[in-house]
Amino acid sequence: MTAPLPGGRDAGRPASGLPVGDLPHGLPRDGLLVSVDAAVPSVVLAIGAHPDDVEFGCGGTLAKWAAAGCEIHHLVLTDGSKGTWETDGDPEALVATRRHEQVTAAAVLGGEDVQFLDWPDGELESGRVQRRQVCQVIRQVRPGIVLGHDPWRRYRLHPDHRHAGWLTVDAVVAARDPKFFPDIPEGPHRPEAVLLWEAD
Ligand SMILES: [Zn+2]
Repeated sequence: MTAPLPGGRDAGRPASGLPVGDLPHGLPRDGLLVSVDAAVPSVVLAIGAHPDDVEFGCGGTLAKWAAAGCEIHHLVLTDGSKGTWETDGDPEALVATRRHEQVTAAAVLGGEDVQFLDWPDGELESGRVQRRQVCQVIRQVRPGIVLGHDPWRRYRLHPDHRHAGWLTVDAVVAARDPKFFPDIPEGPHRPEAVLLWEAD
């Protein structure tokens, strides 16, 4: 994962001490990007709007962590039923194809578990029903790190990507606090970090 170096007005600003995503003090600036290695977590959950989003967003990171022994879980929020440029074709066959591709890609990267919520592609919303579903998966998987779309990225066009980002961060809050969704059998779980791809 990468993060932009601080601009000129932040030169000399001491490091905050954050465990993930902070930048070593005194590195060169001028628009360069630096990578910050996090410790390999034991369990991670990557949450994508569509089949392929996780692979584009953080596939390299997942492959690296899987090779180091990390347990990788995927959560795909929609059914991928609009994932084509073709104007004809069987929608059910497309969903089956995208599902097979997603499971295969996750296995190549070292993923051990892929769950689908199967909301209609293009119609994902970030309401209470969806938040509860994602919260329950977080409490079941109990990841050290959750990865997902950055909901704050400016000018993000696809509504599913925006809603998937909101669901990721909102469900992390819900999963950690016991008063949220107390009917979920699995107890609260607080991930150590949330990493957002395509971050602004
Ligand atoms: Zn997508």
